[in-house]
This record gives sequence, C-alpha cells and structure tokens, in this order.
Amino acid sequence: MSLSKKLVVPPGGKTRIADFDPADPLAGVAGAPTTKDEAEAALSANVEVIADLQYRLYAENTRALLIVLQAMDAAGKDGVIRHCFSGVNPQGCKVTAFKQPSATELDHGYLWRIHHAVPPKGEIGIFNRSHYEDVIVVRVHELVPEKVWKARYDQINAFERLLADNGVVIRKFFLNVSNAEQKKRLLDRLADPKKNWKMSAADFAERRRWPEYMAAYEDAVARCSTDHAPWHVIPADRKWIRNWAVSQIVRETLESMDPKLPKIRLDPATIDTSG
Ligand code: AMP
Ligand code: MG
Repeated sequence: MSLSKKLVVPPGGKTRIADFDPADPLAGVAGAPTTKDEAEAALSANVEVIADLQYRLYAENTRALLIVLQAMDAAGKDGVIRHCFSGVNPQGCKVTAFKQPSATELDHGYLWRIHHAVPPKGEIGIFNRSHYEDVIVVRVHELVPEKVWKARYDQINAFERLLADNGVVIRKFFLNVSNAEQKKRLLDRLADPKKNWKMSAADFAERRRWPEYMAAYEDAVARCSTDHAPWHVIPADRKWIRNWAVSQIVRETLESMDPKLPKIRLDPATIDTSG
C-alpha cells in the first residue's frame, strides 16, 4: 500500500481519529523505513529531491505548494519544518506561524490573515497552525457561538477550492501524538533549560481538554479532507517515522506536480560571448 493512501483521510466525513495509531510502524507501506537509521537516510534522500523540485517550481513560476501543519503541543510541528524543509532555498519558501489573532486580525474575517499568507506562484508556503484553529481552539474554548464555527467547514472547503483552482496545491497534515507521549514530551521540556522557554502553564491545562480537542480535530479532518486539499493523519509518537512520512508525502506531491524549467528564450549560439 502507498503511504499517502494509508494516511489520507478519505473525503466524505466518516473518519475517526481513534482509528489511526500514533505509534503506527507503517509496516506494509512501500518503502517505509524499519529502523531509525534507515529513516534518517530516507529522510535525507527526500530532502534532496524536495530541494531539486523546489528549484524547478520556482523557475516554472506558475503554481504554488501550501503545506498545512496542525497538531497538539509538542507533537512536532517545529521538528517537521526543521527536518523536512532543511534543503529548500529560503528565497522560495516561507513559514507562517499563526498565533492568537491580533486586534486588527479579529476586526477582519478569520480567513483574512490566512489568504494574505498563501504562497505566491513558484513558492512553497508552510503554515504552522492555520485557519483550522478557527474550528479547533475556537470551538474548544467557545470563543465564538457554535452556529459560527459550524458554518466554517463549508467556508474552508470553498476557500481551499478557490486556492486550488488558482494553482495552489494543498496538502494538510495532522501530527497525531498520543496523550501519554505528549505528557512525556511536555515533562521533558519542563525539565530542560534549553527547551522550557517554549512552555506555559496553559500547555498542561489544555491537556485536560484532550477529548474536546480530539473531537474538534476529528470533525475538521473528516469534513475538510477533499481531493484537492487532502488531510493526512501522521503517526507522531516516533519522530523518525513522523519526519519520514511527511517528507515522503511532500516529495510525492512535488513529483506529481512535475514542475518544468522554462524554455530558454534565446539561442545561446547567437550571443557574442567574447567580452
Ligand atoms: P504556539 O503555536 O505554541 O506558539 O501557540 C500559538 C497559540 O495561538 C496556540 O495556543 C493556538 O491555539 C493559538 N491560536 C492560533 N490561532 C488561533 C485562533 N484563530 N484563535 C485563537 N487562538 C489561536
Ligand atoms: Mg505552545
């Protein structure tokens, strides 16, 4: 079975997050690494291919790739960005991290800041959190009435359709960490002076709403996985599996886009190169 077939959320609204194992070893998936060493080698190979394809995407300058990352804290959004995109040229790639909306952002519709950050033609855009927060944290914390967030699934599908119709290829990843592994990582962070700047008391408070978050994620991925903007549920309890899986899907996506270098517009033979 192919990786993306195994991890993709089928369009149609029936997926359950609990059916995806956060520690899935991906046995039986074509090309899946079985050890950490194998995974690191496969990741490096993917990083190189992604870099080459990004160069072509930039030169072709007609389409864009948008990667959306969503996850509970400590599931590895930052790690995925660091590992999977370490080879790309920063000139053609932009990461946008979406935090709590500012006063100005709140004065606009929730998609305003999102649309502004969509990658232009030729570039890769990575969203560290996204418009999905507006049906996840906003729902869990009841920041808007139910009627308001419930209407957003259709709005998001329409928005992503608009982007796809205008040359933006979209791939969405939910990094699926287990409750126990998240606790372990948060406690490790707390104990590590190099990492505890990332922490806030809220991180542990949010854990107490785990079932509400999972329900919100389940509806988001089930209702907003489409052929043109599919969700993938990535097993995230093992970092090496997680990084390889995301890099592999990004690689396959760029390969299927098959960006082409533009044709040279002049005949090199006619140029006087004697100077
Ligand atoms: P971090 O990614 O850990 O730096 O935290 C960013 C915080 O911003 C998270 O707690 C998100 O839930 C929150 N956030 C992001 N987007 C929104 C939004 N649209 N409404 C409310 N909170 C948000
Ligand atoms: Mg945080």
